[in-house]
Amino acid sequence: MATTDMKCPNCMGEMINKEAEGFYECPFCGSKQMIVESEAVKKKRLENEAQKERLEAEDIRHKREQEYSLKKEELNTTVKSIRETAGAINSGMDLINQGNQMINKAEMFIKKVIMAIVLGIAAIVFLIVACNILT
Ligand SMILES: [Zn+2]
Repeated sequence: MATTDMKCPNCMGEMINKEAEGFYECPFCGSKQMIVESEAVKKKRLENEAQKERLEAEDIRHKREQEYSLKKEELNTTVKSIRETAGAINSGMDLINQGNQMINKAEMFIKKVIMAIVLGIAAIVFLIVACNILT
């Protein structure tokens, strides 16, 4: 309890400042005096309140900024992992394409071998028939 310069009008005792309740109280005789706020005090109080609001707004803004940068970081991580997955899928597709090309080459090679065997058999048959006709 803050003491004040206020003297009790009843007993001249030093009054106690009960600012929160809006009055001074004399601890000796119990008489009360309304606190009348001077212009300077009122101005100071309003300034303090405005300053407090500014600080609170600043605090909220700061928290929002932190939340925003955190979300941004999370999003970047997600984008990065999606890119990595897409890269892995592309690598897989490349391997599949290479495999398909190898299969195609092998098929062409087998067709050529079969063609060569068929031509070889045809040539042998032709030679046998030719020999039979000549003899
Ligand atoms: Zn008094």
